[in-house]
Amino acid sequence: MSRSRVAIAKGGSVEAMVERVVDLLGGIGSIVRLGSTVVVKPNAGHVGAPGSSVNTTPEVVAAVIRLVRKAQPAEIILAESAAIGCDTLECLEVSGIRQAAEEAGVDEIRDIKRDEDLVRVPIENPTSSIKHVDLPRFLLEADLLVDVPVFKTHVSMVFSCALKNLKGVVQDRVHYVMHTTNLAGAMMDLGELLQEKTFAIADLYRPMEGFGPHSGNPVEFGCILAGKDLVAVDATACRMVGLPIEKAEYFVAAEEKGLGHYREEDIDVLGEPVADVFTQLYLPYLDGFGAFPEYTFCVRNACSTCQGLTAFTMSKLKSLGEYEKNAGVAMVLGRHKEVPAGIEGAEAVVLMGDCTKTMKKKLADAGVEAFHVPGCPPTEPALCWSVVDRRDVDLDTDDPEVAKQIRKRVEYEDVMFKEWLRKQSRA
Ligand code: SF4
Repeated sequence: MSRSRVAIAKGGSVEAMVERVVDLLGGIGSIVRLGSTVVVKPNAGHVGAPGSSVNTTPEVVAAVIRLVRKAQPAEIILAESAAIGCDTLECLEVSGIRQAAEEAGVDEIRDIKRDEDLVRVPIENPTSSIKHVDLPRFLLEADLLVDVPVFKTHVSMVFSCALKNLKGVVQDRVHYVMHTTNLAGAMMDLGELLQEKTFAIADLYRPMEGFGPHSGNPVEFGCILAGKDLVAVDATACRMVGLPIEKAEYFVAAEEKGLGHYREEDIDVLGEPVADVFTQLYLPYLDGFGAFPEYTFCVRNACSTCQGLTAFTMSKLKSLGEYEKNAGVAMVLGRHKEVPAGIEGAEAVVLMGDCTKTMKKKLADAGVEAFHVPGCPPTEPALCWSVVDRRDVDLDTDDPEVAKQIRKRVEYEDVMFKEWLRKQSRA
């Protein structure tokens, strides 16, 4: 494999930075063919306001579309398939990406979840247990896929950037299988299918630190980076934010699979040196659930959303002064066929999400009382309240008085959490 090149820009407008990284790699004319079809894939997987860094910064998406347009493709399509349980069009709307893309002159916006023209593509050399994926025909027929991720901390993957953003080209069914088998492996399988036609322009203009991928904090980092090798882009992004490469298990496997380079000596960094743009982000998830040894986690085939909410809940409990008080609680996530090992002697058992609905009865039959939090995924802060109050918590209510009480408690706890978070980020 030849050496990889990653370009970094810092300073000036978003538009200027996007143009600069692409110029450093040969210019837009070397990437986009005249009269071609280009698919731009942002990260718009969750409902999050502009500036929250839950999704790609709209200005970055707009700058990419304007730059691509300069090479005169026949068509630019913005496409996304939001996370399980999320509506893509709502995510694009609330994030400001739809409006930014339209103003930048995108030709079409497509919700991959609603696409009916799918093609079954076999995975020839699987790293995960996925044998095939159903991909939209328009994506397979496109000449170029411009992957426009935002860098975020991620509870189950440590971080999310260029390679992980490709996951948003499949519909919920495949998405679910990817999450509940081997997400890193499935991500690589998808990456292998698409790498030839993909070019990444990553948003480190405003990445997310803290409790990503949904509940972290935006950071004004002010950088854009780009490259053809998604693994090299991801590894360089990790180095820019102080995330130790060895904490993200997939790098070694990705290189072995021939997806790209992660070692510094195999990557030529163009533009700004990493040392000059380095800013340490707050990365609380480097040890996964191992960061919370006072609790037991029974996790089997759980989506990253439920894993993320659970890890977030641990931090929330700390912020409320409830973490130590509830030490010894066991959390059950995902699809368990049998009563999970490890819950014997637990202070209390909390069952997370619709996946664990039937477990309550199984545990009751085994003489263990458990509290259930419904939803797919459940609504935050139901899990936290279930741990603290030791009861089933369903926040879905038509009773205005109950809704008012819920709001009051949420507002009160939010103030405490934000204050606690400020202290953590400064520490
Ligand atoms: S309940 Fe949680 S783990 Fe189960 S399918 Fe829904 S999001 Fe995934």
